[in-house]
Amino acid sequence: MTNRTFKTGDSRDQASLLPPRIEDYVGPDNPVRAIESFVCALDLAKLGFRHADRGAEEVGQPPYDPADLLKLYLYGYINQVRSSRRLEREAGRNLELIWLLKGLRPGYRTIANFRKENWKALKAANRGFVLLVRELGLIGGSVVAIDGSFFHGDASKASIFTRKRLAEQIAKLDQEIEAYGKSLEDNDAAEAKSQTQDHTGGPGAGGGGDGSDIGAKVAALMARRSRAQADLARLEESGETQLSRTDSDARLLSKSGQTVAGYNVQAAVDDRHKLIVASEVVNDSSDVNQLHAMAKAAKDALETETLQVLADAGYYSSAALKACEDDGIVAYVPPSEGNGWLEKQGRFSLKDFSYDGTADAYRCPAGELLRPMKGRWQNLSGRLEIRYTSRRSICQACGLRARCLTRKASQRTIRRWEHEDVLERHRARMHGADELMRRRSAIVEHPFGTLKCRAGYRHFLVRGFNKVRGEWSLMALCYNFTRVLNVLGPEDFVACLTRALALFQQVIAAIPSCVQALLSRFWKHIARSLVIRRAQLAFAG
Ligand code: SF4
Repeated sequence: MTNRTFKTGDSRDQASLLPPRIEDYVGPDNPVRAIESFVCALDLAKLGFRHADRGAEEVGQPPYDPADLLKLYLYGYINQVRSSRRLEREAGRNLELIWLLKGLRPGYRTIANFRKENWKALKAANRGFVLLVRELGLIGGSVVAIDGSFFHGDASKASIFTRKRLAEQIAKLDQEIEAYGKSLEDNDAAEAKSQTQDHTGGPGAGGGGDGSDIGAKVAALMARRSRAQADLARLEESGETQLSRTDSDARLLSKSGQTVAGYNVQAAVDDRHKLIVASEVVNDSSDVNQLHAMAKAAKDALETETLQVLADAGYYSSAALKACEDDGIVAYVPPSEGNGWLEKQGRFSLKDFSYDGTADAYRCPAGELLRPMKGRWQNLSGRLEIRYTSRRSICQACGLRARCLTRKASQRTIRRWEHEDVLERHRARMHGADELMRRRSAIVEHPFGTLKCRAGYRHFLVRGFNKVRGEWSLMALCYNFTRVLNVLGPEDFVACLTRALALFQQVIAAIPSCVQALLSRFWKHIARSLVIRRAQLAFAG
């Protein structure tokens, strides 16, 4: 038994404190080896990374290899280090990073610029990883869940203005300017009076205030007013509803009483391992216009013939359901119930009328038919509708009249969308979809929960759509990367990648005449985005 008071470290004078080789700094199952393998397998020039194809003959100081900076960012985002200054520090003191970068220590400006300049290439790398994990069998490919989440932008709520807010600001500034103007006048009057008394030698001689400070305040208020007026003019000219002074693309987003100055991140998540297969950053609070775009992006990424898509009621849109059906996407979205004002009044709503396709007529609760009128009507949202009406004579004698018609109406009219059959099929689907809808939140809230609560990524560090989309790609890539390492383990991931490369090289060497035919699937699925750089996998052994 030891009699030491505390645990003690080793002496700093001890020789060979660290392993003699950098290679010994990290173990064989360290996740940084997976990062190294993945980045080395990418063709960064084809993905569009700057300086990736820089020729050796170019003059001047050579730039950092984008592979090294991508490794640094992947490592940083996986380990909750996002700031360029912190990444710079970690590159000099973190053994895993020293191993990963082979001792390179890029400056924070270089690191920050890489993230800003390569937003498109980062998106491509993210897509490439999705294709890779699909080839590794980690994607189910039949069911995806879609949801959106608000992320703070690099802008405060106070820096974003609506027309109403600008008008209120201008009105308030006018009041203040008027008040100061009155003070100036009072001041001038007091000065004049004081000068008169000086000449006459009366009381108050030598008094009087200095209006220069008031004049300066008025000038500052006038400048603020001009700025607000210019912002209002810009807003009117652009037709936008909001104007952001710091991040021009950030918007005030509101949902369920929560307001965020930032962006709405949309993600489509596969149900097998909860991997993000498609994502987008928008600046609209509402999800209602995102269903088809996200579902189509997921279907394209998965390259499937059909796809089941689950989303919450915020995505319900008849036009989107029709577009999904046209593209072979089976959408499950709880129908929007509307405000239910007819039910609240105790009157029959559309639910109480059944459509008879054979007769092309609606049957009312009294069993009478409502027939179609000639022509089409366009509603406020642009949908073309057919109107079905009951017969006045029948309605006048109907015992259910009080629950069906208003006091002034003599007949009932039902409006039917020209593609209402799409909604009827959707309603029928939704009757047996309780289990699927329960799975929806478990699938799609996993990535957002992990990124926001575990990693603490609730805001973006960059400004503008392009850069924000680049940073989101890094977040999504690191989420997927971590998830895959958790499922496979770092060693198995590296082995899978190695096998894929080895297979590729064997096929090339063995049957060069048939390369095109035999590799068509490979190129189609992996090499298009995750282009393999031959014989450059660092851990092929
Ligand atoms: S009022 Fe007319 S439409 Fe309504 S239930 Fe009676 S018959 Fe049917």
